[in-house]
Parts: sequence; structure tokens; C-alpha cells
Amino acid sequence: MTEADEGLIEAAKRVIRENCHPDRRHLGAAVRTKSGRTYAGVHLESNAIDVCAEAVALGMAASNGEREFENIVAVTMEERTEPRVVPPCAICSLRPGRMSEPI
Ligand SMILES: [Zn+2]
Repeated sequence: MTEADEGLIEAAKRVIRENCHPDRRHLGAAVRTKSGRTYAGVHLESNAIDVCAEAVALGMAASNGEREFENIVAVTMEERTEPRVVPPCAICSLRPGRMSEPI
């Protein structure tokens, strides 16, 4: 694992530590772009909407003009424990190739 990947994991952990809600928000994600920037986001969940943290992080990057990505990581923080890395959600795991394509 590279130092950049460790920084990416820490960014994902930081965003969920700072924004965790015990009933509706315990997933975070961070994406590193080819420009070297990192964008992080949390899972959105309510009665009307459910968007995974990876999509939110990618949306944050795209909203800031980023189009190419190097790596993405998701973490979970359940029961207020220390966040830990988890595999991508079922939908994101079906499209890993799309993650590396410019958007
Ligand atoms: Zn997902």
C-alpha cells in the first residue's frame, strides 16, 4: 500500500468520524483523482433517497471539475467503533471499470 493510499483511507475515515449518524449514516468514501486531489463523502439515507458514499465522493470530485480517478475506498463505522475499510457496495462492485473511466 502506498502512502497516497493510506492518506485516502484516512480521508474516508475522517469524513465518517465527523459525520456519522447512528441511525442513518455509517459509511464513508474517498476518491483520489489523477490531479492528486482527494474528495470524500458520506452515504445518504432517508425515506426518500439512498445514495452510496462512493457515488457521493465521485460526485464531489466531478462537481469540482475532476474527470479522471486513480483510486477509491469505502469505510464503515458501526456502533461508534473505529472506521474500517470495506468492499464497495453491491452496485459499485458491479462497475469497477467505470470508476477508472473519465466522467
Ligand atoms: Zn456504491
